[in-house]
Amino acid sequence: MNAIDVTERPGFLAYALAIENEAVERYTTFAEQMDVTNNREAAELFREMARLETLHAKEIEARIGGQTLPEGASCEYAWPDGESPEAPDFSDTHYLMTPYQALTLVLEAEQRAVEFFETIERAGTDEAVRKMAAEFAKEEREHVRRVRQWRERYPPPERDWDDDPDPPNQAE
Ligand code: ZN
Repeated sequence: MNAIDVTERPGFLAYALAIENEAVERYTTFAEQMDVTNNREAAELFREMARLETLHAKEIEARIGGQTLPEGASCEYAWPDGESPEAPDFSDTHYLMTPYQALTLVLEAEQRAVEFFETIERAGTDEAVRKMAAEFAKEEREHVRRVRQWRERYPPPERDWDDDPDPPNQAE
């Protein structure tokens, strides 16, 4: 089980970094999935999110400096629901997903990141960690705000958005 204490600075930073790295990886994979099916708009949106989260990860790395962190902070370990809070589930994407749907997924993931950091901000015992958690929560709220704005540019999907007369995974 997970023995890392997220209320202590090294544990908190290890988890914060794992969250951001996992988000970058997941968004990049989603972008690639969308490329395969030529869903350019959704691919671009996921790529932009990956870029934002890369910046965030770099910031956290800068704070870590040369410090050694506890190992094992990864989504395979004890996340509240077994998944990194900021990474949307693979099963939630669809090759025909509209930008609106892609952004809804992103929005949910970003909201989970906000919650994760806010929980530590509220429940933390170390003042410095709570301060960092507050800052990270603020940044994630900014991501949420931005994603909401993006989503407003797109119409919600039509009812038959996933009707494909020629589905890709059928032979011939
Ligand atoms: Zn974010």
